[in-house]
Amino acid sequence: MTASDIERLQQELARERAARAEADARSEQAALELEEARHELRPSASAFQDMALRQQQALVRLAGMRPDEGGLTMIHEELTRIASEIIGVERASVWLMSQDGTELRCEELYERTQDRHTRGAVLRATDYPRYFDALKLGRAIDGHDARRDSRPSEFSGPYLTPLGITSMMDAAIRSDGSVVGVVCLEHVGERRTWTAAEMEFAGALADQAALALAAVERRRLEDERAHVRLELMRTRELALQDELTGLANRRALEQMLADEVARALRHGRPLSILMADADHFKKINDTYGHRAGDTVLRELARLLTEKLRSIDKPARYGGEEFFVMMPETSVAEARLVAERIRSSIEEHTFVVDPEDDEPPIPLRLTVSLGVAGLPESASTLEAMVEIADRALYDAKHQGRNRTVVAAPLQQATGGS
Ligand code: GH3
Ligand code: MG
Ligand code: MG
Repeated sequence: MTASDIERLQQELARERAARAEADARSEQAALELEEARHELRPSASAFQDMALRQQQALVRLAGMRPDEGGLTMIHEELTRIASEIIGVERASVWLMSQDGTELRCEELYERTQDRHTRGAVLRATDYPRYFDALKLGRAIDGHDARRDSRPSEFSGPYLTPLGITSMMDAAIRSDGSVVGVVCLEHVGERRTWTAAEMEFAGALADQAALALAAVERRRLEDERAHVRLELMRTRELALQDELTGLANRRALEQMLADEVARALRHGRPLSILMADADHFKKINDTYGHRAGDTVLRELARLLTEKLRSIDKPARYGGEEFFVMMPETSVAEARLVAERIRSSIEEHTFVVDPEDDEPPIPLRLTVSLGVAGLPESASTLEAMVEIADRALYDAKHQGRNRTVVAAPLQQATGGS
């Protein structure tokens, strides 16, 4: 090997080393670039996951809001704010359809830059027919190029251009298949192509709005039903109450009496009744007028009730006739109650206004009473009432202003 051969070999070796070093440098660079690219890629994949997570969290938050606590407004405010932030649009709004489907009313508009909530605008189907039709047909209207798309472009002149809206996406709020409103997202700035995920999210927001509406409607119906029930109860109550005196009327008394007598008989407990009839009441009407008579009847009811215990049930039995049902009361005890009532009325001075302008007139009145009870007087409700009535008749015939206790059953049925 000559000296020149050695030199040539050395040069080749040097070239090879240089080439290898260059290749190493290149592959190192490539590896670096790859790593960089990976770094760039990784955040975008995790951003995607972040977004999905944020969307889910927002939906869960919305679903957890109860419309009956803060009303629909609170939910709409939250929904529009979420939509604007997560999809990144300048304007997000919720519109509700009128009953006849001819108008959309803006319930909530959130403008992101100004962090402002407003409401109240109205869109009429006659002005925007294509838009209303499109809402009915699809789940979402994806107006990537809002001013040119045939559906939202109807808004172009009056609305989109002045506000700088370039892209819009509307998701119909549906209930039982029909459109009851719309969630509307409007983007200002560079024209924007909505992703499938964004459109899906807008649809999910509209579904939440539909659920909130349904909850409010359910609540309204429940309230209405409760109101009707209450009215019914009041009507029934009124139907069982005597209007003049406020006491139970005869119908109510008969119901209570049937229940109480059945209970007394079942448990072998005493139950007494008294019947009271105003003496010569007709004279009061004839002398002072019917209105004065009414005043006296009201006062009679008050005096009678005053002398009773809480378990006793007074009722207006007829015109100037009253009835008291006394559970857990023997005939002897009932007689004492009757006498207390009789004497308190006898001692009372009634005051009535005459029909003309004369001063109020004091007057006195008495009552006659008949008393009967289970089991002493009779063994059935009907027999007991008949015997009390007969006792009252006797009281009248014995001179009025007195209490007569029914003769015992044997004597009464024996034809006395
Ligand atoms: P007696 O002592 O025999 O019971 O005589 P009385 O006059 O009380 O009895 P009668 O049955 O002859 O008359 C009852 C009167 O009560 C006649 C009726 O006009 C009157 N009356 C009935 N209901 C009302 C009412 O709601 N208001 C008024 N002002 N009067 C009434
Ligand atoms: Mg009378
Ligand atoms: Mg009478």
